[in-house]
Amino acid sequence: MSKLNLKGMTRAQLVDKLAGIGKERYRADQVIRWLYLQRVREIDRMSNLSRACREHLKTFAFIGQLELVKEELSQDGTRKFLFRLEDGHTIETVLIADKNRLTLCISTQVGCRMGCRFCLTGRSGFERQLSAAEIVDQVIQVAEIIDPESLARGTISNIVMMGMGEPLDNFAEVIKALEIFMYDDGMQFSRRRLTLSTCGLAPRIVELGELVNVSLAVSLNAVDDTRRSQLMPINRRYNLAQLLAACRRYPATNQRRITFEYILFAGLNDSLEDAARLVELVGDLPVKVNLIPFNEHPELPFKRPDHQQIVDFVNFLQDHKVSVMTRRSKGADISAACGQLRAAETAGETISEIELEPET
Ligand code: SF4
Repeated sequence: MSKLNLKGMTRAQLVDKLAGIGKERYRADQVIRWLYLQRVREIDRMSNLSRACREHLKTFAFIGQLELVKEELSQDGTRKFLFRLEDGHTIETVLIADKNRLTLCISTQVGCRMGCRFCLTGRSGFERQLSAAEIVDQVIQVAEIIDPESLARGTISNIVMMGMGEPLDNFAEVIKALEIFMYDDGMQFSRRRLTLSTCGLAPRIVELGELVNVSLAVSLNAVDDTRRSQLMPINRRYNLAQLLAACRRYPATNQRRITFEYILFAGLNDSLEDAARLVELVGDLPVKVNLIPFNEHPELPFKRPDHQQIVDFVNFLQDHKVSVMTRRSKGADISAACGQLRAAETAGETISEIELEPET
């Protein structure tokens, strides 16, 4: 029987496993505390557990570790980490300093099979799913690197699942990781500090709302099915009507709105008619629209709208009472873009474009 990485085990799994060897429920909380608050790297160092209990734990579990391969620092303070997985694949994790927040953008898959036409990750194909432990460990590792003395999550204030991969295409492991991020005895992230970004797997959006209800970002990018299907093949499976119906069922509020990401492509989705249709589609939902003007890249066939076109589009949305933002880019000099916005990476727009929930 292969052993389980403790970093990817939920409390329920731990309780279950420990019960199997006759141990009480509270032992699971002790393990979680020592894993996240004391940051132990070996089961033998869990000195709050009896020696016998540690030996039992070692029969089914171990504490794994991502290997840091490289770190890059942008002029604006954005840091990009490259981690190697046990099988040799690598993933990127990006830390963005913004006002008084430290936001970590994590990956959920190696590659992606959604094939969005504007995304360089999508063009490079899919390798494999990340385990919950590999998702969670990105946060633990970065917290340790930036803040070796502190506990659990260190000074990381927000997590966005917006790195490489489509999180809802790795549903079970992503849900586990989100649960682990929220443990009171562990990293203690509130759901409003956790954002999941999706290209639009409609049924999973509804399930996500029912199970963990973290903040939601949806990559929209077009206002009719023909153009959206051209840009994002997922639209052939779940069209705009299905996507928006799922968003309507998501438990969002005006205090915690759904973010719709909309990359502006010249001549494709940037007209005032498109803006009007966008208002029609999402105007009655508690949403924020995040506009990301595309920047040209030799491998991609799209053009960036001119400045006036972008301004007119923004003004139209604002005039129609849609909350809209276009933001200063971060980490452009180290290509610190995430999978969801990998197209925009090439000229500088990055995950900092995503407006996060306000601080409390
Ligand atoms: S934009 Fe996101 S969902 Fe689409 S191919 Fe890229 S990583 Fe995958």
